[in-house]
Amino acid sequence: MPATILVGAQWGDEGKGRVADWLAAEADVVARYAGGDNAGHTVVVGQSVFKLHLIPSGILHEHVTCVLGNGMVINPVNLLKEMDDIARMGVDVNPERLVISSRAHLITPAHIALDSASEKALGSQAIGTTLRGIGPAYLDKTGRRGIRAGQMLDVEAFGEALYAMIEKANQTLAEHGHSPIDPKTATVDYLQAAARLKPFIQDTALLLNGRLREGARVLCEGAQGTLLDVDHGDYPFVTSSSPTSGGALTGLGIGPRQVDRVVGVAKAFSTRVGSGPMPTELEGDLANRLRGTGENFWDEYGTTTGRPRRCGWLDAVVLRYAAQVNGFSELVLTKLDVLSGIESLKIAVGYEVDGRRLDFPPSTLGELERAVAVYETLPGWHEAVGHARRASDLPDATVAYINRVAELCDVPIRTVSVGPERDQLVYL
Ligand code: GDP
Repeated sequence: MPATILVGAQWGDEGKGRVADWLAAEADVVARYAGGDNAGHTVVVGQSVFKLHLIPSGILHEHVTCVLGNGMVINPVNLLKEMDDIARMGVDVNPERLVISSRAHLITPAHIALDSASEKALGSQAIGTTLRGIGPAYLDKTGRRGIRAGQMLDVEAFGEALYAMIEKANQTLAEHGHSPIDPKTATVDYLQAAARLKPFIQDTALLLNGRLREGARVLCEGAQGTLLDVDHGDYPFVTSSSPTSGGALTGLGIGPRQVDRVVGVAKAFSTRVGSGPMPTELEGDLANRLRGTGENFWDEYGTTTGRPRRCGWLDAVVLRYAAQVNGFSELVLTKLDVLSGIESLKIAVGYEVDGRRLDFPPSTLGELERAVAVYETLPGWHEAVGHARRASDLPDATVAYINRVAELCDVPIRTVSVGPERDQLVYL
């Protein structure tokens, strides 16, 4: 049976965690293909709120094998902490259920220190990274000097490689006036983590292709979103990996003919964390209204960083672009409940840049920064929609909004979510 790829259609935080949780129920394997613990998925199961940064949300389904793919960068200490946290919440985490690619790259204390040094040096031009060492780890990967998870199998040699990397980073840190890392203390937790993680490490490309041949259903779970992709996003305000559907293939080592479904996830409005262009950004009361009060965990404050997210109207230009880059076979629209009570709703249907009308985002940053959104206005709805489970439970205006979004990006929408709980999904 073929694979499904799940991708964020905007700037991340689209609600992929809950959609992955839904799709995982029908999967045998759930594999993450890019990014590291800069991502944050939230899954609500009854009274329990699981915040997952590295481990795929498939771990919450007992029959599912979870894979951390070769395209990821993994902080072994944080991974172990996350494993211990969910184990305390009653989830069975063992090498049968969680597998780490020997080819995945590791985030070390050197990468974390270099990340904050680099952001400080950029000052007002800072990317707004999550300061988790993701960028420097990918830099070392492409610079062919990274440390891979497989190296943890020989703990002693791993310790030496780690030590050498930290000493090298200390030279760079000193050149820029930052205090050095003490390699001895910084490596203690890493060596302990390596010893415990050894049984979880294997060649996951071999595992995945073997399972696919046996007929297993594989869900490839994306992190971040299309507009944060290092190639297709708003460069340089992007992450260092490929969260788009192409990244799933390289990030897991499977071929394109294995994939028969690409599910995009989009929030019913726009949010963005960190710097970078956002043509539909709102300020003032409406932005605050979309952002929420911060009292609910699903309000618009970053799962990983706690930073308030920038909020704006839905941008169909972005969705149309995401549909093209990823080849979506369907789109899931989340957080429709948040729009209840807004008199009228705007959707960006195009951009105007230097007097030209565009249907797709321009590919240079300068043009993108000058882009002015062209809006269409639709009637809002007053009713709460959290109880809806079928299309007929939704107000006509909600259905019209969903249909218009599908039409604007030319992708069918068959499922929407109306609240954070597992069952708050509407099948249209
Ligand atoms: P991800 O980064 O795309 O995985 O985003 P998350 O899965 O962490 O989702 C962001 C937040 O939105 C989480 O707190 C979810 O529980 C919440 N959420 C997801 N879908 C809905 C929805 O339909 N309505 C509301 N109100 N919250 C939702």
